[in-house]
Formats: sequence, C-alpha cells, structure tokens
Amino acid sequence: MTVPAKMKAAVVTKPGEMKIMQVDVPAVGPNDVLVKVKATGICGTDISIYTGKYSADKLPLIPGHEFSGVIAAAGENVKGFAVGDAVTADINMSCDGCFYCSRGRKLMCPQFHQLGIHVHGSYAEYVKAPAAQLHRIPKGMSFEHAAFIEPLSCSIHAFKATDITIGSSVVIIGAGGLGIMHTQVAKLRGAAPIILVSRNQKRNEIAVKMGAVDFLIDPTKVDAVAEVRKLTGGRGADYVIESVGTPETYGQAFRMVRPGGSIAAFGITEGDATIPVNTFDLVLSELTVTGSCAGVGTDWQDAIALLQYGRINPDPLFSLKVPLEELEDALKLLMTDKNIMKIFVCPELTERVVMA
Ligand SMILES: [Zn+2]
Ligand SMILES: [Zn+2]
Repeated sequence: MTVPAKMKAAVVTKPGEMKIMQVDVPAVGPNDVLVKVKATGICGTDISIYTGKYSADKLPLIPGHEFSGVIAAAGENVKGFAVGDAVTADINMSCDGCFYCSRGRKLMCPQFHQLGIHVHGSYAEYVKAPAAQLHRIPKGMSFEHAAFIEPLSCSIHAFKATDITIGSSVVIIGAGGLGIMHTQVAKLRGAAPIILVSRNQKRNEIAVKMGAVDFLIDPTKVDAVAEVRKLTGGRGADYVIESVGTPETYGQAFRMVRPGGSIAAFGITEGDATIPVNTFDLVLSELTVTGSCAGVGTDWQDAIALLQYGRINPDPLFSLKVPLEELEDALKLLMTDKNIMKIFVCPELTERVVMA
C-alpha cells in the first residue's frame, strides 16, 4: 500500500470552527501502525470538542475515536499485525507503570489520554495508533459495526461495574445510542424487567423494535419515578443506569432505585454539575453508586464477540454515512435533530448514504 505524504483531515481549529485541510500523514514510530480510515462513528464527545466544551486546550485537533480501517503501514517493531489487516484500536492510552495502571485502572492514570479526544483521531484519511492498542476485525464484520465496537465497549464496561444479576429489574434513563445499547446488554445479562425512560418517540420506537424493552416510560406524560415504583412492587428498581447526563435525571435515578440497589452513573453532565443527595438515606438504604467512563481492555474483546456472533445488531441505530466534507453539517444535524442517531464519516465516500 503506498502512503501519500499529505492527507485530507477535518480539523477543529477553534471552538465552533471546523476546516477540511491538507495535513501531513502522521509519521509512524517503530511501535505504531498507520490505519487507512474506513468509517468513524460520530459521538457526543465530538460535538463537545467542536463546541469547545471539551478538549479546548488541545486545539487544533483532528477528532474521531470510534473508527475502523485497514493497516496501511506498520513500524519495524510491530508483530502480529501486517499491512492490509482490518483493525480498530482501543483509544485509551496510559503510562502502564503507575499505581493505577499496575492495578488495571488505566482510566485513572495521570497520563491517561484518548485517541481523537486528546491526540489526533480518525476524521482523516489516515490515523496513527500504537500497535499495542489494536484489535483485529473479524472476517465478515462491516466497517460500520467495527466502528461501533468502541461505544459498545463503554456500555459493557458500565455493566461489569454494576454486576447486574439474572432476573433483576433494571431501569435505563435515556434512549441515546448507548441508552438503547444498555437495554440490549441488560437483556443479555438476564435482567427482567427492563424499563426504558425516554421522551423521544422515534428513539423509543427503535428501542422497542430492537426487542429488549419490557416497559417504556415517557417522563413527559407520567411521573417516571412513580411509574417505576408501580412496576417494581412499590420498591424501586434493583439497578438504575443514568444515561442522559443531567442533574435532573441523576436525581430521578436516586428516587427510582430500591433500598440496597445500585445506580450506574454513565451520562456525562456539565463539569460543575452537582445534585443534593440525602446522606441519611444513602447510609440506611445501603445504596451503591458506580461510575463508568470508557470501555478498556477486555471490554473491547467482549464487544467484538457480541457483534461477531450477532448477540447485538446495532443496525437500527445507524442513520447516515457521510463523506469527510460533510462532518461539520452532520455535527450540526445531530445537535438539532434528535431523531438522527448514529452517523458514520467515511473518507472514501463521495456522497451521503441513508442507512435507516
Ligand atoms: Zn465516544
Ligand atoms: Zn499509568
């Protein structure tokens, strides 16, 4: 595979400004590979980078972290992977030697950084990744499914933190792509019933069609907390997964969980958001709250297995495929039209493709 010197990339130059530019193809170190990008899923984090809410100190930056592609070049020390291999990469990088890394908690590493969030990512024709981060894409898996491994790994990570058991009641607040994925993973975990709380009708329809939702609660029509209690013998749910990211919905999570139950904090709020928690209840109810920030390590292998063997089919979430030049429009579309779900950016594409 011949690699050119320059490539097309979408660069966030300052908050609210994105430019399609010709930039140098990243130089590959001895332990890195260069991946020719096939697909990148747009994530809420990309919107936060574009608007300046996140990673503003890293600009100019090429975002993009839910990606798949084909190895175009490999450094001299790279073993086990070769040019032409279809891959994705765990975006979470750390020092591997500190207190946290040695305990398998790389997300807490002082040197923790993510590809496409803190260093250049995949909204470009090529992206550089350390070979140690690579995962092979199974034969027959589409590049869109492969680009979905990253977000699915985040859902799986949250479930491992909560340790949801068979037959337990689970409430998921929020029907974003990941909220809907949580319903799917909850079903695989054996949860019953699975209750989804969401106000978006189109997303609710998709979630129900995907077959893992037992009860749907529209909080604009009913008192969601009262409804959850009604569905769980008056107790509240065994587990509540907050997947919206507002103080209001976090407050609801505390009122929906039963004594002795567990809340999974997943939705990302504003950086300074807080909620009042009744500490008396917290102690007497023996509540558990688990935070969960990203899928790492084996979460990626688990996500690959679920997609490879058809345990999860995310196709109903896939709205559009667009060329790199349309990324900024796609970001704006996602900010204004909540009926659009996952959009993929494909550098080799010349025009927009409607997927669902
Ligand atoms: Zn993401
Ligand atoms: Zn470390």
